[in-house]
Amino acid sequence: MSNENKTPGSGCNQDSCNTSGKNQDDKSQFPSGENLRQRMSRVKNKILVLSGKGGVGKSTVAVNIAVSLALAGKRVGLLDIDIHGPSIPKLLNLEKRKIEATEFGITPTGYGDNLKVMSIGFILQGEDEPVIWRGPMKYGVIKQFLQDVVWGELDFLVVDSPPGTGDEPLSVAQLLMEVGGGIQAVIVTTPQELALTDVRKSINFCRQLSIPILGVVENMSGFICPRCGEASEIFKTGGGERMAREMGVPFLGSVPIDPQVVDASDSGKPYMYHYARTETAKAFGRVIRPILEMGSSADMDDLERTLSQVPPVEEEKTMEKPVMKIAIPVANDRLAMHFGHCEQFALIDVDPSTKRILKQDSVQAPEHQPGLLPAWLKEKGANIIIAGGMGSRAQSLFTQNGIKVVTGAPGDEPKKLVESYLAGTLKTGENICDH
Ligand code: ADP
Repeated sequence: MSNENKTPGSGCNQDSCNTSGKNQDDKSQFPSGENLRQRMSRVKNKILVLSGKGGVGKSTVAVNIAVSLALAGKRVGLLDIDIHGPSIPKLLNLEKRKIEATEFGITPTGYGDNLKVMSIGFILQGEDEPVIWRGPMKYGVIKQFLQDVVWGELDFLVVDSPPGTGDEPLSVAQLLMEVGGGIQAVIVTTPQELALTDVRKSINFCRQLSIPILGVVENMSGFICPRCGEASEIFKTGGGERMAREMGVPFLGSVPIDPQVVDASDSGKPYMYHYARTETAKAFGRVIRPILEMGSSADMDDLERTLSQVPPVEEEKTMEKPVMKIAIPVANDRLAMHFGHCEQFALIDVDPSTKRILKQDSVQAPEHQPGLLPAWLKEKGANIIIAGGMGSRAQSLFTQNGIKVVTGAPGDEPKKLVESYLAGTLKTGENICDH
């Protein structure tokens, strides 16, 4: 046997789990293909989650789609066929689960009331062992997962494929097409051009196989700083949406980069359950809505109701919704050019995700004392100051206090200044105090 034909670490301990890829139907009671047809005829919708590249959050999206559908009362199966990097057991903290084989087939692992999970990870020996399988072996094991796992009646089977357009997505797509289809694809990407190039291949892959595309998800789309609430476009934003438009496929929505998504993954807690009330969960919800509405729009109401009732397991640990608080030194209702001698400060709260002004307060400035204002404004919660003139020492004190400094702003009304700052049209001139 050549090295490529060995299955180091495959460690399948199930009698019924024949990973040779040959004679898969020998033991079945039906003629070839009939077992698969029988099993899959009980699954209404099959959702294939694809990505052009690894690391874009495909498995994270797959898990959160499956968990959300289950929370909405749907009967859901989650199948992980990422043979070279199965991550579903880790994402759901199921790594120690063993699967069982009975005379009826392989019993999937249960997760909550409505979700059944099967992963190639359950039958591999060690997570550090590489799997070296040829295409036909992959085809064989994927076929077994579809036909020999006791899925029962399902509303949705969510399939997490490895990145790219290789043997695994091809096998699962061909197998499901052979037995009547009902398969649709969700394609996950990040917004930068490098990822988009690969995702175009995934779209063409679906087109060649006549798999309808439910839509594209732009994951890791912008980052909202939990400290200052400011949005940064780390991998850019909007690239996935533009690409979807150009290629004529639906855009399902975008999900920001959120450190809590990583915490959730690393601790095996599905984000949509444990962080159900966050802005990022709402973004996931918007992406998942069209999938749920394949059932009926009432399902989305069910999900929203369920999520609002989810006990706030992690809520004490979650950050409050970030708010951008912009401070502006004011004299005679306008920006005071020398910030150290102003009468008041306007404090303007902005929702960083919508860039809408939430409220505006005015506070009396404290007695002038050198070096006092940065700490005083930090205590008031400010994270940005828009000023006319400011000396370099004061600027560095603000920066040390985590407050971003914008200098050289004109002597306009505070609200107008904030609006133009948010729109990116604030014209800043010379900083008259920076000498
Ligand atoms: P893939 O399946 O595409 O390889 P994963 O779902 O395994 O990607 O995600 C890769 C890493 O990125 C994981 O650590 C995951 O927690 C993290 N991740 C995914 N989506 C986000 C997000 N929106 N914000 C922050 N981290 C994310």
